[in-house]
Amino acid sequence: MNPHLINTLQDSIQGTIKLNEPLKNHTTWKIGGPADVLVIPQNREEIRRTVLLCHEYNIPWLVLGNGSNLLVLDGGIRGVVIKMEGALTGCIWQENGVTVETGVSLPRLVRDAAKRGLTGLEWCAGIPASVGGAIVMNAGVGNDSFGNYVEKIEVVDSTGQVKWREKEELIFNYRFSSQQERQEIITGAVLTLPQGKREECEEKIRDYLKKRRSSQPVEYPTAGSVFKNPPRNYAGRLLEAVGAKGMTVGSAQVSEKHANFIINLGGACAQDVTQLIKELKSRVRQEFRINLETEVRIIGEAR
Ligand SMILES: Cc1cc2nc3c(=O)[nH]c(=O)nc-3n(C[C@H](O)[C@H](O)[C@H](O)COP(=O)(O)OP(=O)(O)OC[C@H]3O[C@@H](n4cnc5c(N)ncnc54)[C@H](O)[C@@H]3O)c2cc1C
Repeated sequence: MNPHLINTLQDSIQGTIKLNEPLKNHTTWKIGGPADVLVIPQNREEIRRTVLLCHEYNIPWLVLGNGSNLLVLDGGIRGVVIKMEGALTGCIWQENGVTVETGVSLPRLVRDAAKRGLTGLEWCAGIPASVGGAIVMNAGVGNDSFGNYVEKIEVVDSTGQVKWREKEELIFNYRFSSQQERQEIITGAVLTLPQGKREECEEKIRDYLKKRRSSQPVEYPTAGSVFKNPPRNYAGRLLEAVGAKGMTVGSAQVSEKHANFIINLGGACAQDVTQLIKELKSRVRQEFRINLETEVRIIGEAR
């Protein structure tokens, strides 16, 4: 890593800068090799400066939300990782929604919305994501997804420019948003949330959390569903049918509770998970002629 970039970064921002930081400390799977540099900026201006410096020194960068949908390979990530979770955490509530910074966690957003009797997002309870990650991945449950509530977003682009993107410029589909194809950092969003009743919102949250606890291995480190559901089918059902539950490679194991979750039994490495993924895809292809696609994003270098 260019020492001039490190020095200039240290002079330019007050946020945290860590060198060779193991990303297993920043993903919900507790897996991932080191980032050359991890930056946790304190505010929008520091995000802008970090991006500008990377641009100037021609260093690649990527964004980390809460790391709940990522498999970081064991060789780690060359360049700069900008971590949002804990960085931008403000919310301004209105009668029909909220202007939210994207480092806010979904559990907090949902709880605070319910307190104000704003409804719609109760299904997000128990998803350990940042708002930014939920927008990029268009996180969802059943037929509802985060994009349905997004009015507009604020972004920092790869030249450090801050701008708003209106609803018309955003496409949301199943676990897809057009932001996946843009080299931009989402820093804020305006969400529209209908008025409801506080008690009803809170009851819905309790129901969703209960359902999650009974059907998902919430007691282990995971990254949620590993594969997307293929059209008109469920990845979990297909995986269960090929005997996936309990399959183990190293310290990674297909959950006995839900065949589309891979749990880290303790000390699993990315290679354990990629081997399991390969085997699972192969079994489903052979049995059903269906190519499962990963929902988790696989990034970094193999060792
Ligand atoms: C226990 C558990 C349950 C889950 N349940 C669900 C569920 O019910 N439904 C569902 O859809 N998902 C679920 N997930 C998966 C995951 O929480 C979602 O995909 C979530 O949207 C990822 O958010 P994140 O902040 O963790 O993003 P990360 O995993 O950190 O990043 C995901 C992608 O978004 C990008 N990104 C993140 N923040 C920004 C930003 N501010 N600007 C630009 N790019 C950004 C990253 O570069 C990366 O490409 C679950 C995960 C776990 C661990």
